[in-house]
Amino acid sequence: LTTFTDEARIALDTLSGRATGLFSPSLRLGVTGLSRAGKTVFISALVHNLIHGGRLPLFEAQKSGRIARAFLEEQPDDAVPRFQYEDHIAALVNDRAWPDSTRAISELRLTIEYESASGWSRMFSSGKLSVDIVDYPGEWLLDLPLLGKSFAVFSREAIEMAALPVREDLSRAWRAISAEIDPNADADEMTARRLAESFAAYLKACKLDERALSTLPPGRFLMPGDLEGSPALTFAPLAGLDRRPRPGSLHAMMERRYEAYKTHVVKPFFREHITRLDRQIVLIDAMQALNAGPGAMADLERAVTEILSCFRPGRGSFLTDLFSRRIDRILVAATKADHLHHESHDRLQAIVRRLADRAVARANFTGADVDVVAMAAVRATREGTVKQGRETLPVIIGTPIAGEKINGDTFDGKTETAIFPGDLPEKIDAVFDISRPDQRQDSTDPAIRFVRFRPPKLERTAEGVTLSLPHIRLDRALQFLIGDHLA
Ligand code: GDP
Repeated sequence: LTTFTDEARIALDTLSGRATGLFSPSLRLGVTGLSRAGKTVFISALVHNLIHGGRLPLFEAQKSGRIARAFLEEQPDDAVPRFQYEDHIAALVNDRAWPDSTRAISELRLTIEYESASGWSRMFSSGKLSVDIVDYPGEWLLDLPLLGKSFAVFSREAIEMAALPVREDLSRAWRAISAEIDPNADADEMTARRLAESFAAYLKACKLDERALSTLPPGRFLMPGDLEGSPALTFAPLAGLDRRPRPGSLHAMMERRYEAYKTHVVKPFFREHITRLDRQIVLIDAMQALNAGPGAMADLERAVTEILSCFRPGRGSFLTDLFSRRIDRILVAATKADHLHHESHDRLQAIVRRLADRAVARANFTGADVDVVAMAAVRATREGTVKQGRETLPVIIGTPIAGEKINGDTFDGKTETAIFPGDLPEKIDAVFDISRPDQRQDSTDPAIRFVRFRPPKLERTAEGVTLSLPHIRLDRALQFLIGDHLA
């Protein structure tokens, strides 16, 4: 029955969406990425630049002066928390501190009043576009493949991943506990809890590991949202599942909870949020992965592949039937490019392109346009040069966060510093070459010298007007994601 009513509701939503669309067109833009990829900063910067008329030369509607104004309106979905734009901007602009990161789903409606470029469109369009920005953890999205997997398959894959050389040390404690468990023994809540806790601890350790290992499901073990501590999260994969579970056994209990997680957590999230998106940006922290070496790049590529296969499943995928709308454009964006000198921006973009191309090819993925960009939603640095002997070296200049260290110096959070950021390799094959024995690069010589900077101090014009947040290629991202709807 639930399935039927869900189905009917989605059909109705789609119809009413189309009907109201005639009068006030809206576009649902999904913003995702693994934790700390830069979602909160991206949305805050995007909205700030549009509301305050930022410098966006590659965003055609703005450049040609066709945007009359952009402003926030009440969001259409009452049951979804609002994206706390004002708090995030206060942190960025007033305190020069990075805002609190995404921990659950949230939404914000930005309405743009504009003049169409052609007289013909002007006659028929309302000159108004509402962009509903939906921010959600990539960890939750990576749960979708679970919908097609039985508990036995989920268990087998989780155990195989845990035994890989990159994860073997982090998963040791969980594997030790797990090895002593007989799945056929009587179900016991304390055993279930002990297993779930040590499995979750292992997943979290992967997340915190400096090798930037990519995320493994279940996503809510890492980002529980409002499910923290609930029984729906008290399960773990089991080894040695060679037969059907005996009723009353630990195996039966874990399988039931795994199925409940899929039915009550994963499926509703997918139906209510993902299937209604029109456009999607996937933010990735390529800088961190590059710094950690080819093993981390391979892991990132795998995550992007899985993320893409959730959005536009190819023909015959069990996910296809769930979609009411079709995502037609996806942008894979490496943010934080302000950590590199501009000479390296194109290289970073080429690396992301290679990664996205391979992910598209592997993801059994059809239909949508996929583009890539290397950008910084908020540019925390400027560029300069430093003379070293006879050489003039390009540097980036910014205020490192208090406590950051480089070459033995610890920063106080107040002093501007010039840093030579290092180059990305000219030949991008090297960054993907996992055949190299060193999974991580020599930590004394990372590819990029990585220091976290404070957000920038905003410039003021001679008239005392504060300018909007500076960025790198945010306008290119905007043009791809919404530009055609403002034509
Ligand atoms: P989320 O978990 O995806 O919401 O990630 P956030 O948006 O909170 O970003 C995580 C951290 O990455 C921030 O606290 C910043 O330190 C850093 N960051 C994100 N975007 C940028 C950017 O454009 N430039 C710089 N320099 N740092 C960024």
